[in-house]
Amino acid sequence: MTYQKFYEFGISDAVLGSLSDMGFEEPTPIQKIAIPPALEGRDIVGQAQTGTGKTAAFGIPIIEKGKRGKTPYAFVLVPTRELAVQVAQELNKIGQNKGVLSVPIYGGQSIERQIWSLKKGVDVVVGTPGRVIDHIQRKTLVLKGIKTVVLDEADEMLNMGFIEDIEKILKEIPEERQTMLFSATMPAEIRKIATKYMRDAKNVRVNTADMVVLKIKQVFYEVREEDKIKALTRVLDVEAPSLTLVFCHTKREVDDVSGKLQKMGYYAGAIHGDFTQSHRDEIMGKFKRGDIDILVATDVAARGLDIPDVSHVINYSIPQDPDGYIHRIGRTGRAGKSGIALTFVTPREYRQLRLIERTAKTRIDKARLPTKDEVRRARQEEIVAEIEDVIAERKHTEYLPLAEDLFSKYSQQDIAAAALSMVLGDDEVDDIEERAVAQPTYRSGFVRLFMTIGRKDKIKVGDILKSISAEADIPAKKIGNIALFDTFSFVEVPAELADKVISAINDMVMHGRRVRVQHAKERATKK
Ligand code: AMP
Repeated sequence: MTYQKFYEFGISDAVLGSLSDMGFEEPTPIQKIAIPPALEGRDIVGQAQTGTGKTAAFGIPIIEKGKRGKTPYAFVLVPTRELAVQVAQELNKIGQNKGVLSVPIYGGQSIERQIWSLKKGVDVVVGTPGRVIDHIQRKTLVLKGIKTVVLDEADEMLNMGFIEDIEKILKEIPEERQTMLFSATMPAEIRKIATKYMRDAKNVRVNTADMVVLKIKQVFYEVREEDKIKALTRVLDVEAPSLTLVFCHTKREVDDVSGKLQKMGYYAGAIHGDFTQSHRDEIMGKFKRGDIDILVATDVAARGLDIPDVSHVINYSIPQDPDGYIHRIGRTGRAGKSGIALTFVTPREYRQLRLIERTAKTRIDKARLPTKDEVRRARQEEIVAEIEDVIAERKHTEYLPLAEDLFSKYSQQDIAAAALSMVLGDDEVDDIEERAVAQPTYRSGFVRLFMTIGRKDKIKVGDILKSISAEADIPAKKIGNIALFDTFSFVEVPAELADKVISAINDMVMHGRRVRVQHAKERATKK
C-alpha cells in the first residue's frame, strides 16, 4: 500500500513541520514508494532523476532517524560539488526543527575549513568521492558511526570514473548499515555494486503506464531559475492568454510568484493547501468570473478543484513525473478546444523533460522566449486596444475639455504620444540570459555551441565529433566546424539540431569531465 500524505508515514512532528515550512504538500511518486521501506531500514535501489523529489525520498528517512551528535551517522556520496551543496541544503531544511546538521564536503573548497566543521561535529556528510577519500586518509572523517549511506546519481559517478573510489569508501563504512542507491539509469556496473554491497534491496521506480496526451501545443523554454519570473511576464505579455494556470512545486513558490505578478499589475491569484476552504472558494470564484485571469497553484491544490478550461497551462516548475505533466496540461484544450502548455526547464532538468516526453509519448518542442521588442510591441498593442475600448464606451468624455485646452498649444500627435509615454512609462523590459532568448545563426543555418571542455582536457576534435554524433544520434557530417581552445571549445551544428545536441551532451561526462553545453554568445559582427 502506498501512503498519500506525509503524516501517514508516521514521521515526527519536527520533520512534518519542516516539510510544511518547505512548502511540500504531499509526497512525490518516488517518495511515496521509497520512504516507507527506507524508514524500516531496508536497502533501496531507486531509479529516479533530478526533478522527481529523490533527495527528500532518501533525506526524510535519514533525518527522521537521526539526531544532533558529534560524529556523522549518515553519509551521502554524490558526483559533483553542485549536487553536494544542493543535497546538503535540502537536508538542512528537512532537519531544521531537529537541529540535524548536514555539511557538503567537496574538492575546491578549503580543506581546513572542512576539517574544522567536521571536528565541531556533523551529523550528515554529503561528499564527492575524491575529497572524501582525502579526508579518510587524513583521518579527519570518521565513518565508523555511519548507519545509513546513500549513493546518489550513481550512474554519473560511474561515468566520471569514480567506481573504484566508491568501493574504497564503502569498505570504510561498517557493514551493519542501510544502503540506498539512486540512479537515473541502471547500467550493469551499477547493478553489480548493488548486488555486492546491498542486502535484499527493495527496487523502487515510478511505474509510468503508457499515457496519451491530448492535442495540446506543447513547448518548453530553457530558463535559468533566477530568470523565471521575468520569463513568465514576457510570455504573459506576448501570448495574452485569456485564462492561465501556473503550476509551481511548493506553496512558498506559489506565494512568491503570485505576489510578484500582483505587484507588477497582473490580475493573479494563488491557491495552495495553507488557505482556508472559504478563501480558496473566493479565489476560484474570481477566476471563473474573470476578475483574475492568472491562477498560480500547486498540483495538490489544483487537483481537487473544478477549474474551468484554461487557454494556457504554464509549468513554472517542471512536473515531478510524467503523470503529473499529463494531469497539469489536461487542464487546457478540453472539449476539442485548442490549448497551449508551456514548460520552464532549467539546464539541469533537461533529462527530466526528456523522460516526460518519452513516457508520455509526446513532443515538447523548444521555443524561444519573446524578445524585448516583441514584449514592447505587445504592450503597445494592448494599450491601443484599451484606448479603443475607452472611446467606444465613451468613458473619456469628462476629459474632453482638458484635451481641447491642450489642442490650443500642441499637435494631436504630441498630446497622444505624451499621454502614451506616461501610461507605458519608459517601457523597460528586463534582461534575461541571452541563450534563452536569442539563438543567433553563425553560418547559414548553423548555430555555434559553447562547450566547457578543451585542449587541456586532452580531448581532440575527433573525440568531440564522435561523442556528439553518437550521443545525439546525428551523422558526423552534419556537424560543422569545431574550434578547440585550452579550456573550452565551439561547435557548429545545424540550428534545428542544436537543442537535440544540447540535451544529449549537456551534463555528460567526456574524458572524465562533466561537460556543460550551451548556445554560444555571439559577437554582433560575426557572420
Ligand atoms: P530533486 O529531484 O530531489 O532534485 O527535487 C526536485 C525539486 O522538488 C526540489 O526543488 C525539491 O525541493 C522539490 N520537492 C521535493 N519533494 C517535494 C514535494 N513532496 N512537494 C513539492 N516539492 C518537492
